[in-house]
Amino acid sequence: MTINDFQIDPKLLEQKEIKRCQLATCRGGCCADGVWLDVDQAERILDHAEMIKPFMPEDRRDQSTWFAELHDDDASFPSGKYTGTTIVPDEAHPSGTCCRFLRPEDHFCAIQYASLQNSMQPWTLKPLYCCLYPIVDDYDGGVKTLTIDSDNDLFSRGGGCHDECPGTLSPIFQIYAEEISIMLGVEGYRELCAIQQETPRL
Ligand code: SF4
Ligand code: SF4
Repeated sequence: MTINDFQIDPKLLEQKEIKRCQLATCRGGCCADGVWLDVDQAERILDHAEMIKPFMPEDRRDQSTWFAELHDDDASFPSGKYTGTTIVPDEAHPSGTCCRFLRPEDHFCAIQYASLQNSMQPWTLKPLYCCLYPIVDDYDGGVKTLTIDSDNDLFSRGGGCHDECPGTLSPIFQIYAEEISIMLGVEGYRELCAIQQETPRL
């Protein structure tokens, strides 16, 4: 099945009894290694640096240390260039290290937290792949596939994305409707619901 140029991985159609993010349990496990992001997104975050800094630990506020080197070998990034957030030691994180934007006190992303505190939508500045996770896109030979990351060693290091939640049997694309809609659009998500004879959540 293809919707809005994305192949839909059958894994997204599977029925599971799992629940959405429980930060108190996983402590932001998916933020262990930072994230790759388009350089345009990184520049937008830097443009809002003064807004974000108050919500980070003092020793992480030097914006010259926020991002790593540039790369240009992955055409799936819209600008053609991408970078990564840098990581720092953090005893509060299950991995012992994490993205420097992860707040040790509550495991919230400082970028999202700062956006909310400034009356912006939570995902306005947050890197795309952070908003999507544990939904991921896969580019292979020009074919784009939307799937779920169910085979990642971060889970053995404390990621809790697939916590069981008895009595909540639902297709994975419904559990992660908000994330699916980022890539397919809400109309694309609703098209998927119609094909699968599901009532849309959005
Ligand atoms: S940018 Fe935010 S959500 Fe993304 S890895 Fe860093 S702390 Fe986590
Ligand atoms: S995606 Fe997984 S590891 Fe990341 S915050 Fe949600 S439950 Fe935790």
